[in-house]
Amino acid sequence: MLLKSSKINEFRLWGLVLILVGMGVMILGTAGIVFWGQTGKVFAGIFMVIGMIALLISVGIYFWAGMLSTSAVMLICPECGRQTKILGRTDRCMYCKTILTLDAQNATHGLDEQIQAESAAPAKQDAPSSQG
Ligand SMILES: [Zn+2]
Repeated sequence: MLLKSSKINEFRLWGLVLILVGMGVMILGTAGIVFWGQTGKVFAGIFMVIGMIALLISVGIYFWAGMLSTSAVMLICPECGRQTKILGRTDRCMYCKTILTLDAQNATHGLDEQIQAESAAPAKQDAPSSQG
């Protein structure tokens, strides 16, 4: 977990990043034709392939996230009262980032001390702005 987000949101983020990278690489490759002419076409071909691979991977990630979200557990977050999904035994709420767990053993102990300290903090500054 690189980000303080739910797993589904994180999958979507990485899919988006890969799409942007793939498109950027393809644009760079196309720009190579403009700058270098005939030799640039070789680079363009290589960059196109790399970009295509990145796009295919991102599609795979989106597909995987879709598959995972169908098997996710839907529940009402006890913290913010919205309906959210959790993947696996422990995940964060998609809206308020509160750590939710299905495992009764973790319910009072949290994942680790750092996360426990985070969730214990009273600040709610990372609440999403899309509440309207
Ligand atoms: Zn919540």
